[in-house]
Amino acid sequence: MSCTWGWPGTDYLALGLLLVLAAWLLIFLRRKAMLPQRTMSSCSACGGSLEPAYFRCPHCGKTLKGHCPNCSGIVESRWRYCPDCGTQTATTKQEYKGGAES
Ligand SMILES: [Zn+2]
Ligand SMILES: [Zn+2]
Repeated sequence: MSCTWGWPGTDYLALGLLLVLAAWLLIFLRRKAMLPQRTMSSCSACGGSLEPAYFRCPHCGKTLKGHCPNCSGIVESRWRYCPDCGTQTATTKQEYKGGAES
């Protein structure tokens, strides 16, 4: 009855290692898949990488966002209407009037 016991440690070790590896791989893949959605976008004019907070492209100077003329909320330049109040943005009526801020 002693031979069946042998060295079960190696089996458990291999199984445990496999489990850890699988869990790590899962976490790693999930992180990798989630990253691009959350962080960088690219400039439509020059293709440079942009942070979501940028108002202008640091690579080519293209205006990315402006302020709503009605509620002064942040409006991206490609949006036609303010998401907060629904006002048509200045960029679509005519070329951006310059705005109060430079
Ligand atoms: Zn750019
Ligand atoms: Zn608005």
